Amino acid sequence: MSKETILIVEDEDSIAELIAFNLKKNGYDTLRVDSGEKALKLLNSPGKISLVLLDLMLAGMDGLDFCKKLRQMKKYADIPVIILTARSEESDIVSGLEFGANDYITKPFSPRVLIARIRAQLRRSTPGEEEDASDSYEYAGIRLSRAFHEVSIEERPIDLTSNEFSILDLFMSSPGRVFSRDAIILALHGDGYPVTDRAVDVSIVNLRRKLGGKSHLIETVRGVGYRVKKNP
Ligand code: CA
Repeated sequence: MSKETILIVEDEDSIAELIAFNLKKNGYDTLRVDSGEKALKLLNSPGKISLVLLDLMLAGMDGLDFCKKLRQMKKYADIPVIILTARSEESDIVSGLEFGANDYITKPFSPRVLIARIRAQLRRSTPGEEEDASDSYEYAGIRLSRAFHEVSIEERPIDLTSNEFSILDLFMSSPGRVFSRDAIILALHGDGYPVTDRAVDVSIVNLRRKLGGKSHLIETVRGVGYRVKKNP
C-alpha cells in the first residue's frame, strides 16, 4: 500500500513538528505549511493528499475560510479535515464543523488520540480498504491488518511488538509454509538493530503467549523453523 500523505496546516512550529513526528512514526507522509494560502497552493498542485489537519487560528486566511475554499475545490470536496483547536474555542469547533470539517481535536492532545482520529477518518473516506486482500489476512479467527498495523483475535485487538507483528504477518501470508530463522531474520528489517536467532525465538515465545487460545497454531518444525498450521 502506498503511503498516505497528510497535510498539516499549523503556524506553531513546535506543534507542527510534534504532529509530523508522530505521523511519520505511524507510517504516514507529511506536508507542512503555516498558512491557509500556502495550503491552498499545495492542494492545487499535482499529487494526492489524503487528509488535512487544520489549525483554526492562523495568521492571514483563517481556518474557517480555508475550509470553505477547500470544499469548493473539485478534487478535495470530500477530503477529511480534522481541525485543531484550543479548548476555549468551542464556538470555533461548531463553526468548523458547519464549514465542512469532519472532526476536531482540542489542544493539547495526545499523539495516540490524534492517530486514532486520523485512522478513523481515513477508514471512513476509503471504504473497502480493509477488505483489500493484500492488506489484511483472516486466519482461524486471527485478523491481521497491514494497513492499520493491527491484530485482533475474535475481534479483540492484541498488542504486538513490531517484530512479533512482522513474524505473524510472514506466517499468515503463507499458512503451512515453514520459515527458517534466517528467513524470519530477513523479514525483520524494520527495527534498526541486528536480529539474532535468539531474538527470533523470544519473539515466537511472546507471540504464542499473546495469541492465547490460538497459540497452538504456531508450530515448531524441529531443525527447520516455524510455521502456522496449514489447516487450523
Ligand atoms: Ca495557530
